[in-house]
Amino acid sequence: MSFTALHPELGRIDATLIDLGQGLEWEGIYRTRPRIRLTCPECGHGVHAKLSPRRRTRYFAHDPGRSPHCHLSVESADHHLLKRVLAEAIRRAGWSAELELPAPDGSWRADVMAISADGEQMAWEAQLSPITDGDIQMRTNRYYDDDIDVCWVSSRDRVPWLCTVPAIAVAPADPPTAAERWMVHDGLTRFDYKCGSWIQVDDVTLPTFVRWVLDRSLTIHPIGRRYRRIRLPGSNAIIRRSVSWSTQRSIDAEAKHEAMRQRQEAAKAAREKRAREAEEHRKQVERERQRQEDERRRVESEKRHREFMIESKRRQAAWEAQRREQERKRQEQERQEELARRERDHREQTAAQQWWEGVSAAQLAELMGHVTALSISEHASRALPRSDEREREYAYGLALYTGRRLFGVVMPCPHSLDRLPNSTRIFVRNAREKACITATGLVNADLVTHFDLPDHEQTSLL
Ligand SMILES: [Zn+2]
Repeated sequence: MSFTALHPELGRIDATLIDLGQGLEWEGIYRTRPRIRLTCPECGHGVHAKLSPRRRTRYFAHDPGRSPHCHLSVESADHHLLKRVLAEAIRRAGWSAELELPAPDGSWRADVMAISADGEQMAWEAQLSPITDGDIQMRTNRYYDDDIDVCWVSSRDRVPWLCTVPAIAVAPADPPTAAERWMVHDGLTRFDYKCGSWIQVDDVTLPTFVRWVLDRSLTIHPIGRRYRRIRLPGSNAIIRRSVSWSTQRSIDAEAKHEAMRQRQEAAKAAREKRAREAEEHRKQVERERQRQEDERRRVESEKRHREFMIESKRRQAAWEAQRREQERKRQEQERQEELARRERDHREQTAAQQWWEGVSAAQLAELMGHVTALSISEHASRALPRSDEREREYAYGLALYTGRRLFGVVMPCPHSLDRLPNSTRIFVRNAREKACITATGLVNADLVTHFDLPDHEQTSLL
């Protein structure tokens, strides 16, 4: 089906126009006898005027035997309906609409060409079948080559090329034949400055949209990189769009928002820079403080070490002095003891000398004779001196042995009795000498034996 046909005399006629665009009545071509030979502008095959089942829509249908390749013959009813609705919207906006208008050189064929009073053209394409981005871009460029704007319109649910070329998605409400029942639901946005984002507009009818586009209230706008998340009205849903129809006011608002955002980002960057600098300064101060603290500790530690070394040396010196003092005292004591011993030895020797002075050799022999006799009577053994020395260890007396056993000591000096071994028997001449011995309290009287010998040598005269 198509809305246009070629009249053999009048040329191009349009079924969507009251006078078919040529001052001709519908009844002049519909079911006339004889039949007027109308042909398809696309393939040249014969067509005939027709009414839809409810007689609402006038169109042309290919005669039997049509070419299977004619675009117009295979276009769907939906496609035709949308074209007709677009034409109606254009005409309401005060522009004329030419359906299925081919380029003079055949490079394009507009579904609906809007033409202003002063001859300006804008193509409206109803695109319902799938098309690649490359193909739709190429077809758009062909219009641009002829300085003609184009808007692609789809009533499909999913329109993948909405951001590839200037385009909108539309949806009809019942009845779909009235243009004002068609609403634009994608491809038109407004900028909400407060939210800082684009919001899809879904309350504009197709005729309103077409009028706004034709009077240049709307332009196709490449959305700023940061604003491509488009909010759907009345929900939190988000879609991504890089291109949209919009008003200059919204475009200005986006630019203003972007400028404001950049100012805020610059301010934020400046704040962060200041914060970083402040932090760096704080760290530097902290590092300096730490360095000073380390230095202080180092100095303190060195000082403590020095003091410790001084104290150690002092203690060492004190200890050395003490040790020397002790050594000196010890030597002094030894010296004193040595003096005392020598003095004692001297006293004892002097005393022993006096003790022995009064004893002549004869008297000693006499005494020895008695002691020997005593040893013989007691042990049947002669007690003999080991030497003639009067030894200190025997208190400067004469030690007598019977064999290897000490028998006793003859005439020990009373001054040195403490040198004698315990229980040593002592032999003296008489009671006087015994008294001298026992008077010291150092010797038990039982151990002292005397022989009542006279103190003085008996003269030969007696
Ligand atoms: Zn055809």
